[in-house]
Amino acid sequence: MAIPLTAGRLLAILKAEGVKTAEYPGWTGRGRDAATGRTFGPVHMVLNHHTAGTTSLTVVAKDGVAGLPGPLAHIHLAKTGVATMCSAGRANHAGTMAKNAYDSFLQEKATHPAPSKASGTIDGNDVSYGIETENLGNGTDVYPRAQYDAWVRINAAFCREFGWSAESCGCHKETSVEGKIDPKGPVEGYSTRGRFEFTPKQLRADVAERLKHAASWSPTAPTAPKPPTTPAPKPPTDTERITALEKRVTALEKRTA
Ligand SMILES: [Zn+2]
Repeated sequence: MAIPLTAGRLLAILKAEGVKTAEYPGWTGRGRDAATGRTFGPVHMVLNHHTAGTTSLTVVAKDGVAGLPGPLAHIHLAKTGVATMCSAGRANHAGTMAKNAYDSFLQEKATHPAPSKASGTIDGNDVSYGIETENLGNGTDVYPRAQYDAWVRINAAFCREFGWSAESCGCHKETSVEGKIDPKGPVEGYSTRGRFEFTPKQLRADVAERLKHAASWSPTAPTAPKPPTTPAPKPPTDTERITALEKRVTALEKRTA
């Protein structure tokens, strides 16, 4: 069980984890608690999403979409890796969660079953932090390195603060009974790993690895491709030297003739 963090504390744990942060104007007072009459927390997991758009910050932080008022997440994560704070309260991101899936994150099981409506449902917005990561979600739009690195850091920051394992980090498609498919798509790379397909399991593995280190840790940088080596100019051969010498002699002879 964990009591939701104050806005100040939320910002502080992200900064400590090395995340570049920004604050959406008015974010500390924005949430879906008063309007719904429901209280945010206790919180038990982090839920990861993709925005399915390109310029989603204002939509996520404030405006929301038809039938779903903002804020739509606690954090908006841009392609640059900048995390913008959107809310420290209740946010409209998780929708209805299947109880069997939710329980597996609550209990930090090593595996997470496919969400089953038959197992019962809960309101995911009461119990989870939401991260909306900017990506079209079309399966070809790439998550840049900086964005994925920040994504791992944000998940780890919550786990570190609350004493959770990486098995408390879920993805919308793992809990939703509404047919959500997010997040998905190719990742440019992470640490020494080249391009790979996003999977919840890989995200959790990367969060678990991060949690073995201090918050200030950075993964090994990718090995930079070696610059093409230009061969050193060869010294002239004896024949070339003699030829050059002969030319100079001939030129001199012409001048003195
Ligand atoms: Zn989602």
